[in-house]
Amino acid sequence: MSMVMLNLLLMFVFIYMIIPYVITRIWGFGVTLRGRRGRQIAFTFDDGPDPLHTPKLLDLLKKKRIKVTFFVLGSKAERYPELMKRIHMEGHQIGIHNYSHLPNWLMSPRHIRNKHVHRSADIIERITGERPSFYRPPWGILNIGDLFALRKYRIVLWSIMGWDWGKGSKNIPLKERILDQLEPGSIILLHDSGDTWGAEPDAPSRMIASLEEVIDTVHIQGYECVRADELLHKPHDSRSDLSKGFRVG
Ligand SMILES: [Zn+2]
Repeated sequence: MSMVMLNLLLMFVFIYMIIPYVITRIWGFGVTLRGRRGRQIAFTFDDGPDPLHTPKLLDLLKKKRIKVTFFVLGSKAERYPELMKRIHMEGHQIGIHNYSHLPNWLMSPRHIRNKHVHRSADIIERITGERPSFYRPPWGILNIGDLFALRKYRIVLWSIMGWDWGKGSKNIPLKERILDQLEPGSIILLHDSGDTWGAEPDAPSRMIASLEEVIDTVHIQGYECVRADELLHKPHDSRSDLSKGFRVG
């Protein structure tokens, strides 16, 4: 490769990949990393729906009476429409996580918008009757063009990564990983599928088994668990007011 080609390649990588990574992850430019309101927090689950894990997660959420946000893959939504209907019927928010789990760095903004985001939105709308408006790219990776091509969507990343998908998830308990970083407005990233590249197939079972205790603890601390759209849009709810402080239980 000639020097000119190498320089052009490095320039492309810098502009297409590195700049959007820095401005979104560090500055939160064009994306949402957290909410600001009261004592509300939002649990979010990526990579599903999954026929094995999602029903168990839905059972737990129903038992705990909390609503969450699922960022689903369009291809899986297409394969498991009944599961999508259940998520929707039980009051959870559905957002988009591409049609298949591919990184936006390797695709053009136009391709991502048409073949992943619009396509998945069409599938979700066909099944649930409601068109999603929230989007989270796989691995939180955006290219520079996405910030313009996807401006119709609200791009939601996260403020707390659960690290729940791989082998490392065995080392530190989920409860510690989440509670150590928890603050008002936190958006927590977890996964209800273990078949993504790099994930352990059984990781969601471990996550779901630990989640009940996490939910109980955040409730004791006076947090209210809401959908991401509620965290970001709805007017302040006095029930979750900061003045209420911590309930010790
Ligand atoms: Zn993902």
